[in-house]
Amino acid sequence: MTATKPPLDLLLCSPRGFCAGVDRAIQIVDLALQKFGPPVYVRHEIVHNRYVVESLRAKGAVFVEELDEVPDTDQPVIFSAHGVAKAIPEAARTRNLFHLDATCPLVTKVHREAEIHFRRGREIVLIGHAGHPEVAGTMGQLPEGAISLIETEADARAFRPKSAKQLAFITQTTLSVDDTAAVVAILKERFPDIVAPHKEDICYATTNRQEAVKRIAGDIGAMIVIGAPNSSNSQRLREVAERAGCPASFLIQRADDIDWAAFAGVRRVGVTAGASAPEILVEEVIGAFAERFAVNVEVVTAAEEDVIFNLPRELRVAAE
Ligand code: SF4
Repeated sequence: MTATKPPLDLLLCSPRGFCAGVDRAIQIVDLALQKFGPPVYVRHEIVHNRYVVESLRAKGAVFVEELDEVPDTDQPVIFSAHGVAKAIPEAARTRNLFHLDATCPLVTKVHREAEIHFRRGREIVLIGHAGHPEVAGTMGQLPEGAISLIETEADARAFRPKSAKQLAFITQTTLSVDDTAAVVAILKERFPDIVAPHKEDICYATTNRQEAVKRIAGDIGAMIVIGAPNSSNSQRLREVAERAGCPASFLIQRADDIDWAAFAGVRRVGVTAGASAPEILVEEVIGAFAERFAVNVEVVTAAEEDVIFNLPRELRVAAE
């Protein structure tokens, strides 16, 4: 006789998983492999997801951390969705390497803002996380010292600009909307003339995924975020769930990582995925719950998304 499975409501956040920038970056590697054949070199993980990286590696992508690991070759070198410092494409050109840029257009938008502020003589504050490749790429758009990094409210209180009248701020695209608003409020109070982005730098995908988590956080016993530990937007989703009232929030890469003991007695579980996590991993997690519980899946939608970004010119023919 089979034991009856306990009932469990799975609240599935929508939108979740791949954003337009990640989708484009993966397509760039895929199409480059189709058009030029392997190997295709990719500087840094194309997006922060082991499953995606391993799938592309199996097709012939070779991942390197730095450009000097790429041999002299006619094969393409692709820069990741997070963006790169100006010195990187310059070094590729010096070596006559054929490079394709998979930087998300919404990250490029922040790079352009930084350049405009710099040209107008403004000191720039970047709100972001030290060590993240997007932050390194954005700071590397301008000469050293042009951009100051602020990570926390305490940093915003302590920041001493050269001139409070000639100041602008930009942000990383994958931050917590609420934490960033608190940091910005401090900067605006201290420096009323600080110039803000025309349109939010935190991207639509980050905002929508956080909004969907906030909608369910107070109504669930636990939250699962599928994503990589080095994925900024995934980490933020886990934090947002806890701050919005969910008692326990877990960031996992695959179903195998689930600590089932933590779900004993829980009757409603939220599920979402960071912008670099493919839907197949969400299905895997739902399947793992269905093996142990009588699962009722309910989708909670915070926004509809229809954003698509153009591919680089060199690959458009391959896509047709
Ligand atoms: S999370 Fe936002 S900025 Fe990052 S790749 Fe996706 S759309 Fe672009």
